[in-house]
Amino acid sequence: MNRRHLVTAIAATALAAGIAPATAQTFPARPVVMIIPFAAGGPTDVVGRIVAEAMSKNLGQTVVIENVAGAGGTTGSTRLTGAQPDGHTIMIGHTGTNAASVALYPNLRYNPLTDFAPIGLVNTNAILLVAKKDLPASNLSEFAAWLKANERSANNAHAGIGSVSHTTCLLLHAIIGVKPQSVPYRGTGPAMNDLVGGQVDYMCDQVVNVAPQVRAGTIKAFAVAQANRNGALPDVPTTTEAGLPNYQVVVWNAMLAPKGTPAPIVARLNEALRAALADANVRTRLADLGADLPAENLATPDGLRAFMEAEIAKWTPVIRAAGVTAGN
Ligand code: ASP
Repeated sequence: MNRRHLVTAIAATALAAGIAPATAQTFPARPVVMIIPFAAGGPTDVVGRIVAEAMSKNLGQTVVIENVAGAGGTTGSTRLTGAQPDGHTIMIGHTGTNAASVALYPNLRYNPLTDFAPIGLVNTNAILLVAKKDLPASNLSEFAAWLKANERSANNAHAGIGSVSHTTCLLLHAIIGVKPQSVPYRGTGPAMNDLVGGQVDYMCDQVVNVAPQVRAGTIKAFAVAQANRNGALPDVPTTTEAGLPNYQVVVWNAMLAPKGTPAPIVARLNEALRAALADANVRTRLADLGADLPAENLATPDGLRAFMEAEIAKWTPVIRAAGVTAGN
């Protein structure tokens, strides 16, 4: 009997004996792979690693990070849809991969609502407009004037078409009335290196990624695009305070499994996620980075599904109005 037949025979025997192949009791049977659809060192990666470490303790198995970057996070998301739906492969998707991508990618290889089993919202995150240290502007109005005057030469770094750093700057550009050139990276971790180095001019990125650099003084921050100042960077004004009240955008990270993952296993992963988010050390680390914990109703699989549906409806007209497409 070859290996495949042996495996089939064991599975048949197990089924005949009434033993389900994967249950909440036997899960996880081995390390769980968490796909991060962006490069290491960026905000999705940083949040994913903090949560994975705490989930490992709760699950009794290591949650291993696998960075599968490319195409604004859609490459890693497509990878998840091909994984075994047994809970051993999960992913951190976000506003880009599971909402904005729908309007941006005419040939998106997955349906963000039907090809995944939502586990729960992980966090929300404010977007900050940041620039290289020597960009000749010291506040948001001066930045807007600089961008209008330098529209043809300005470089906007982002994490690929459809990433949140791309879509949230699209929104900013639409408000200011410019269409500058953009430079895609495999994540805003590597993009941040070039911003610090001065090779690119500015970025709209999550506070998790920008807070350490702003504190270190290696880049400058013009405004946070949310109603209140962010606890991690209390000196940075809100966009309302800085004179651009229409620029309001908060993004999110969500934990997903492939569709078809059994409900008890999704529930077990949700329990581990909630335990991670309740962990004092995780809360301190996320708060220090300026990440906000999800509302209770969004920390559930059903809550997340409804939220993603609303987010697709919210982002689709924004993308259409900006007139951009990834055309893949
Ligand atoms: N900040 C990236 C984005 O724009 C994601 C990342 O690099 O983690 O979507």
